[in-house]
Amino acid sequence: MTLEQEIGRRRTFGIIAHPDAGKTTLTEKLLLFGGAIQTAGAVKSNKIDIGTRSDWMDIEKQRGISVATSVMGFEYKELKINILDTPGHKDFAEDTYRTLTAVDSVIMVIDCVKGVEEQTEKLMEVCRMRNTPVICFINKLDREGQDAFTLLDEIEEKLGIKVRPMSWPIGMGKSLRGVYNIYENNLNLYEPNKQKRVDDVVEIKGVDDPELDKRLPEGLVKELREEIELVNGVYDEFNAETYLKGEVAPVFFGSAVNNFGVRELLDCFTQIAPPPKSRETEEREISPEEKKFSGFIFKIHANMDPKHRNRIAFVRVCSGKFERGSNYYHVRDDKKIRFSNATAFMAQQKETVEEAFPGDIVGLYDTGNLKIGDTLSEGEKGLYKGIPSFSPEMFREVINMDAMKSKQLDKGLNQLMDEGLAQLFTFELGSRKVVGTVGALQFEVLQHRLLNEYGANAKFEPVNIYKACWISSKERAKLDAFIKDKQRHIAKDKEGKLVFMAESKAWLQMVQDNFPDIEFHFISEF
Ligand code: GDP
Repeated sequence: MTLEQEIGRRRTFGIIAHPDAGKTTLTEKLLLFGGAIQTAGAVKSNKIDIGTRSDWMDIEKQRGISVATSVMGFEYKELKINILDTPGHKDFAEDTYRTLTAVDSVIMVIDCVKGVEEQTEKLMEVCRMRNTPVICFINKLDREGQDAFTLLDEIEEKLGIKVRPMSWPIGMGKSLRGVYNIYENNLNLYEPNKQKRVDDVVEIKGVDDPELDKRLPEGLVKELREEIELVNGVYDEFNAETYLKGEVAPVFFGSAVNNFGVRELLDCFTQIAPPPKSRETEEREISPEEKKFSGFIFKIHANMDPKHRNRIAFVRVCSGKFERGSNYYHVRDDKKIRFSNATAFMAQQKETVEEAFPGDIVGLYDTGNLKIGDTLSEGEKGLYKGIPSFSPEMFREVINMDAMKSKQLDKGLNQLMDEGLAQLFTFELGSRKVVGTVGALQFEVLQHRLLNEYGANAKFEPVNIYKACWISSKERAKLDAFIKDKQRHIAKDKEGKLVFMAESKAWLQMVQDNFPDIEFHFISEF
């Protein structure tokens, strides 16, 4: 196969949802269709359950499970499909955001009973930043959920994206009888507790087909015809272009646990979802078809075994062909590294990979050379753009409890930050170090790992910080004046970018009003 053909048959997507919406269940059904797994229950949930008794070790164990399932590849209808799973727990949201930079499209699972939930809204914001095409799957139709039109309105309103239903439920909850496939004009009938099979799809020609009357109770047929008419009246016809631009989300209805509506989703996905596209580095746009390999690291997972402090770096291949054992150029460090130990992810197994193509994810064993956001290439000098950091939600100051171990503490902090566990800010005055996280859990993990892996004893003390804002200005002099004025509140992030540490919302607002020439950013990349 040529490079172009390999690229053309790849579909790399992320699957996102608020916890419990049915992400794991749907993933499993997709893998079953692809023949990548044989039995249900083979995919372990990467959900992180934090009971009162669970400590960080449990959490890490649970995260360990998620390494195996964080990338799953399978073949389906000549396509090579790569699913990137994302942790649903909100304390690991930053992980999810970064994973979304490595995908070409997204499937978003929504619970029909709960509707659009908070975590989903945040995830959608991230998709919008990069205009990632989104398909919605409204799940759990076997339950008494909200009315289909209400759900669609909610998606448009809360997620700020237009929708186009591609399938339509016939009944709901106990009265659920099927999903009418608007996209293909056929019908999937539902029998509770029965695993759906292909032959159960009834071929019908449009909603007026008399076959419908034979198959379904009169009332439901009438309702379906009215609703489909309404759907076609209210929503613009499906248009692949608006979907690919991230402006309109095609919506499917179904019940993942009953394997219902999943094939409709998968078949349509394979037809409309985009293959890998060009991506930008600091210097230029790189097309996947370019012969020379390039890719970037979007995730690093630490080894569970503290005796072996190696880690797995996840690389998204962006152009050319990755070959095991080759020397690749590490852009940030300006040196070549040889990767003889590359791993590909196929469903349940990790296996050694000889070559990989744009859209694929390769796992590289690393002893501390790589960090999130790094670019590897065959000579290309620019770093891939698009791995932003978000202003953290919680801040604590690092207090070294053992003066003899400050080197270990620095090293540990540095490496753990490279893994993307948290963000480090160093104040200009007095070199105070403050760590920012999305949730309290990360501090626990940090403290434990610093001690166990680096022998550094650190405490994390609450500080009065509300937000970290990256600052810039069109006029250097204005920026300098601002820094001078607010010296006590200026820090640098790990890349050395300037950050203003605001103490409160009101105060930040006031500072913003008083310094109109300074731009305040809540995302590191601007
Ligand atoms: P995740 O947290 O998004 O990965 O959600 P899971 O896939 O683990 O599903 C959460 C719970 O919802 C599990 O108990 C599933 O069995 C259940 N579930 C998933 N899909 C359906 C469905 O279609 N109908 C019903 N009734 N339950 C479902």
